[in-house]
Amino acid sequence: MANTDLILPKAMNLIGNKWLPASGGREIDVVSPIDGAIFTTIADSSAEDVERAITAARAAFDGGEWSKATATERGRLLVELSRRILSESEALARLESRDNGKPIKQALADMVVTARYFEFYGSAADKVHGEVIPFLNGYNVEVHREPYGVTGHIIPWNYPAQMVGRSVAPSLAMGNAAVLKPAEDACLTALRIGEMAVEVGFPAGAINIVTGRGQVAGAALSSSRNIDFIAFTGSPEVGVQIQTMAARNFIGCTLELGGKSPQIVFDDANLDAALPVLVNAIIQNGGQTCSAGARVLVQRGVYDRVAAELKARFEAIQASDSGEDSILGPLISARQKKRVESYITEADAPLLARGGIRPGVPTDGYYVAPALFGPCDPYSRIAQEEVFGPVLCMIPFDDEASAIEIANCTEYGLVASIWTADGGRQKRVAKKLKCGQVFINGYGAGGGVELPFGGYRKSGHGREKGFAALHEFSTIKTVVHNHG
Ligand code: NAD
Repeated sequence: MANTDLILPKAMNLIGNKWLPASGGREIDVVSPIDGAIFTTIADSSAEDVERAITAARAAFDGGEWSKATATERGRLLVELSRRILSESEALARLESRDNGKPIKQALADMVVTARYFEFYGSAADKVHGEVIPFLNGYNVEVHREPYGVTGHIIPWNYPAQMVGRSVAPSLAMGNAAVLKPAEDACLTALRIGEMAVEVGFPAGAINIVTGRGQVAGAALSSSRNIDFIAFTGSPEVGVQIQTMAARNFIGCTLELGGKSPQIVFDDANLDAALPVLVNAIIQNGGQTCSAGARVLVQRGVYDRVAAELKARFEAIQASDSGEDSILGPLISARQKKRVESYITEADAPLLARGGIRPGVPTDGYYVAPALFGPCDPYSRIAQEEVFGPVLCMIPFDDEASAIEIANCTEYGLVASIWTADGGRQKRVAKKLKCGQVFINGYGAGGGVELPFGGYRKSGHGREKGFAALHEFSTIKTVVHNHG
């Protein structure tokens, strides 16, 4: 069991740079997935607490110290926060691993990515320029890019720290003030990053963090008439509600909702390079990744070889307690474990391989042995629905056209990979895939911080990461000056 040596104020929200308890002092127990033990509590915030955070953000944006910071000054603060996260990355990783259950090495890698978000957006803050448009004689037309005002951010439990960087950093870079509602299942690193933001000098109200239940605190944030934009990452079911609320309040939103991402392996693929990546893309973070490579589409000429290799690799994987040598930790919660186990036991496809659970792991932890299914019908439930666990489906295909058809046959469209040595095929297939990111002879599981990322259809809309996110968190004002 990983130790945690970061001491956070217990059950507090961060509002206007102050730690405040939830109204009525209500708290939610925090359970570690590693052993099922309660190890701290968080604030169980009400709609009133959320509104207080929005008011603090509004004050920061409308005339507060934050609104007076230049783009360069905002950028410097973000870069300073990045440095701070890196300098404390080991302690943050231990906290993340205990709170979320992820293997300590993955948690550490997450902290590096989290720091990189703040560095990237800090460096970009003063590089978003407007335009001048040629127009009629006697006119000068300027296009300004402006922040919206107060942005709401609702994030999930699968990458608690990374999601703060991904969602909040671009918004702050553009000059918005943020209210973040992290997930009740894992939010401690988000709180510590908020505390670090205060320590490095962010003015009051620039970043506010309110913890609590989705149906209460999350719903209050997304339905508030006092926010100007909302960014949501989580399930499609909640995403629909967020978009409905945004429409009622006539504000914009981005939705990042998950996927059933295909990895397409053609007969001429370099299998030695592909195989470890195919496994890692679904095992990493316990498969609890929106861009997990959950379907492997294999051309018939190499299907048997790929199946035999994946079978051997899956059978060798054991879920374990997130220590130094762990590649697969527990799932986030008892609920998620039950859900994933029921997908496995009720699967409408042959079970090809099952990994194990390392003997001696805490019996009350949420461990699930990985499962490999195949050959799967592309339209079977197990090959269509997002399991959000270490469950991989193998689907055979005949030719390029059928590979494209199968790849596009779910409601989702987030990420895909193409494994082939044929340069023409790489380009043709990439063009026809209906998803936001395509990797050729690789799989980035969401890719780098610099790369725009987002979905088609049930995977959501809007783009996070890269410069695209700066555009999402800002709007355009056209100023037409008649000087004739
Ligand atoms: P969820 O959508 O219920 O929760 C995500 C966030 O939304 C959390 O912060 C939660 O508190 C909040 N929320 C919940 N209900 C809300 C509401 N009515 N209004 C406003 N906010 C609300 O996701 P979950 O229950 O944690 O996971 C369920 C499934 O969602 C998973 O099995 C997986 O398929 C998917 N999921 C996807 C991602 C992703 O990265 N795309 C992340 C987590 C979960």
